[in-house]
Amino acid sequence: MPAAVEFRSVYRHFGPASAPIKAVDGVDLTIAEGAFFAMLGPSGSGKTTCLRLISGFESPTAGDICIFGENVSNTPPHLRNVNTVFQDYALFPHMNVRDNVAYGLMVKGMGRAQRYAKAEEMLALVHLDAYGSRKPGQLSGGQRQRVALARALVNEPKVLLLDEPLGALDLKLREAMQDELKSLQQRLRITFVFVTHDQHEALSMADSLAVFNEGKIAQIGTPTEIYAQPKTRFVADFVGSSNVLPPALTQSLGGPAKWSSLRPETLHIDPAGTLQGTVTSLRYLGSGHRIAITSQGQDIAAILPSGSALPEPGQDIRLGFTPDALHIMDEG
Ligand code: ATP
Repeated sequence: MPAAVEFRSVYRHFGPASAPIKAVDGVDLTIAEGAFFAMLGPSGSGKTTCLRLISGFESPTAGDICIFGENVSNTPPHLRNVNTVFQDYALFPHMNVRDNVAYGLMVKGMGRAQRYAKAEEMLALVHLDAYGSRKPGQLSGGQRQRVALARALVNEPKVLLLDEPLGALDLKLREAMQDELKSLQQRLRITFVFVTHDQHEALSMADSLAVFNEGKIAQIGTPTEIYAQPKTRFVADFVGSSNVLPPALTQSLGGPAKWSSLRPETLHIDPAGTLQGTVTSLRYLGSGHRIAITSQGQDIAAILPSGSALPEPGQDIRLGFTPDALHIMDEG
């Protein structure tokens, strides 16, 4: 079965060839049908450009893009079976919710009764059946977000692209919408490609994800692989807060002379522990405490569960960890 989306050595450079902006710089990518795939990375790393290359709003400078096995590199957006949900929702303010949702079907020439029936069906799917007559300005941010989803889904895309779709929502609503999006995707089994710079969002929602850095994919894998086995310092740093240890410190902890990562939650106070240092700070987190120590000039954080005995700032302590917690990275 062909992949939902495939990038083969894709480049998208902007500006003059003598000094190009390398927005996408040699990306190979395979997204399986039915996947919830996240593109994660800092601002300017090329995520949105990759999404626009899938939707057809952007064309590659070099390389090929296939959707369900068909090379669409030269196919205009409206002929790709793909829809996008934008961060600002891009709803028509003068149209009511029902007309906003039915708009794509009207453009395709579908009759009024049929397109309204489909719009109602989509509004029910996103729990907005009672809101069809309202204008977007009369809705909350979360409701507007759901209208935007319904408006994209009514076209029955085989791939739904979501560009930071929860970025405008406050934390609580954002978490509720994360659950809703995930369950919607599981029910519909449409391939979702989701752009975010929020690592928690990517790790908790995606089946697999690509971590972008400077137009390239730094690592691709399941959330567990990315979190527990980061390949590079960049991935370890960007995805969750990790202690990134230089080769000398890795070696002093019994590992090879390579860069390694050690997650704060795998550390505990242990008088026989191999990691020795001075406590520099202590912070209450609600669910536990975060302590920081300096060891061989390196700051190391540890998360201690609530109820643990706590050291004082300035105190020399030792931290222990299970051997498999020290993850050796391929490169620096
Ligand atoms: P963000 O999270 O801030 O949206 P991003 O990872 O989605 O960032 P892109 O929007 O893909 O990043 O941009 C990647 C790089 O390409 C940036 O340096 C950006 O300024 C540049 N870029 C994007 N579009 C254009 C364009 N049309 N012309 C010139 N440069 C562009």
